[in-house]
Amino acid sequence: MSNVVYAQHLAIVDPRFRQLVLPNAPLHQLHTGSCWTEGPVWFGDHGCLLWSDIPNNRMLRWIESGVSVFRQPSNFANGNTRDNQGRLVTCEHGTRRVTRTEFNGRIRVLADSFDGRKLNSPNDVVVKSDGTVWFTDPTYGIDNDYEGYAAQPEYGGCYLFCFDPRDGTLRAAATDFDKPNGLAFSVDERTLYVVDTGGTHTAGGPHHIRALRVSDENRVRESSLFQEVSPGFPDGLRLDRHGNIWTSAGDGVHCYAPDGTLLGKILVPEVVSNVCFGGARQSRLFITASSSLYAVNLNVSGAAAAR
Ligand code: MG
Repeated sequence: MSNVVYAQHLAIVDPRFRQLVLPNAPLHQLHTGSCWTEGPVWFGDHGCLLWSDIPNNRMLRWIESGVSVFRQPSNFANGNTRDNQGRLVTCEHGTRRVTRTEFNGRIRVLADSFDGRKLNSPNDVVVKSDGTVWFTDPTYGIDNDYEGYAAQPEYGGCYLFCFDPRDGTLRAAATDFDKPNGLAFSVDERTLYVVDTGGTHTAGGPHHIRALRVSDENRVRESSLFQEVSPGFPDGLRLDRHGNIWTSAGDGVHCYAPDGTLLGKILVPEVVSNVCFGGARQSRLFITASSSLYAVNLNVSGAAAAR
């Protein structure tokens, strides 16, 4: 692309991207040696980042002074977020469930079946301000024994689910995805961005982000293509406070304006799976990428709901 200006790890495609990044802020590799990193989630109250190393069946914890194991075995945990009370919410491939870690450390199962059949392998999760837990359920964790345990799908689809902890109900919010993956709400929570990575299994299949209009009653009213992402796949994503979408891709992190315009990229030397905002000002972008964890300081903070 002729108008791309490379400044170290930054690819500025649209001039607006300059307002969002810090050209002199380096891309740091904070840890390496994992097999496939995913699920970054920031705990400002503990000054730490938790993330998943899926094939190694563990979750890791980064603080300024170093990295330690947070949970092992992790039941092949994948996506993580926090609920409105700050509790850790985790997608587990190995147990095919979504859990919440209580303040006393006890792990409570939020959802593990739909219509009496096991979930596939919950992949990524976000909590809305009303407390509902939205998660995707593709088959990556039951396709083989690398990221979970090989098994058959039971309910016959790969759905986007909405779990309401107030009454314990689990509802299929959208059933027309191939492989639903990362997800994040817009700042006003009226749009839910959901990735479809069906192209991992089907040549020419989806590698895009869809925008779902969500009603106040949590019903999906419309769905449209937001943006195709290439190279690679948009796996996980988060929003900044302006509503820009920061998503993983094959060559790094892509940043899209709310109208779908590609603003720029953070080029990362490994395939990126997911991102999250953290740090004291919520403006440090943590990046899980293949075997490593990276971070870069930005000139914008994450959306309040971008946990
Ligand atoms: Mg994912």
